[in-house]
Amino acid sequence: MSGRRIEIVEVSPRDGLQNEKQPVSTAQKLELVGRALAAGIRRVEATSFVNPKRVPQMADADAVMAGLKGRDDAAFIGLALNAKGVDRAIAAGCDEINFVVVASDTFNRKNQGVGTEESLAAWSAIARQAKAAGKRCSITIGAAFGCPFEGEVPATRVLDVAERALAAEPDEIALADTIGCGVPSQVTALLSGLKAMGGTAALRCHFHDTRGTGLANVAAAVEAGVDALDASIGGVGGCPFAPAATGNIATEDTVWMLERMGISTGIDVDALVAAAHWLEEVLGKRPPGAISRAGVFPPAPLAA
Ligand code: ZN
Repeated sequence: MSGRRIEIVEVSPRDGLQNEKQPVSTAQKLELVGRALAAGIRRVEATSFVNPKRVPQMADADAVMAGLKGRDDAAFIGLALNAKGVDRAIAAGCDEINFVVVASDTFNRKNQGVGTEESLAAWSAIARQAKAAGKRCSITIGAAFGCPFEGEVPATRVLDVAERALAAEPDEIALADTIGCGVPSQVTALLSGLKAMGGTAALRCHFHDTRGTGLANVAAAVEAGVDALDASIGGVGGCPFAPAATGNIATEDTVWMLERMGISTGIDVDALVAAAHWLEEVLGKRPPGAISRAGVFPPAPLAA
């Protein structure tokens, strides 16, 4: 496993902040992205182009992207769930469009107002729209490890949704543990199922640490050959449908563990820890990540 490289996608500006009650200013979001880039992160889920009435924290999507103009050293992802959102994301200068389809029909209806089938149909058109504009496109399968409404989501169901999502030939497909209920054996089974489908789409995983399995799932995903992992500085971010959700896996915890395993991320963990402390000040609460509290190991040698 040593010598491999895993790409980290920083999702704190979107998934991390979207459920924070306290408004975070555009300037603070831009500083968050700036800190992520300074740490070496090269791919950021910057914002979402959804109804601002439903997700008020993302109402400044255009302003965030305007503030990132000229940052050609990184790729910025915009989440969009319909054609209008994709148009907005393209106009705003996003490099990549990410779409979400939820593996459980009930959750998809709560999240997107339509069933999984309708979302899959919409996805084909959205993938074409993004590609026609020269954008990368990726799809995330939500609730791939369990649903707050339907309970267990069978692997056969997740893989069926994935197979149909792959028909639109995305650049990447992601499995999301939206409510943080997944365990490593599921990661292994689902990723091997995806790999068996062949194709050229990169594989990404999106884990939440709600029930303490986040980094165990990362280890399983790495072992199963994942290409990229979503993570959030400080481990901020919860799902509105997951009570007491403790957020995404923390970027600094993930990077620290991977680097200590000999897997390269190209990211400076100390800069991430500093960013997590800064975010703690902004949000006025301690983020759930572990390394920002416990400290990096081994510690930096004392100056002579
Ligand atoms: Zn999430």
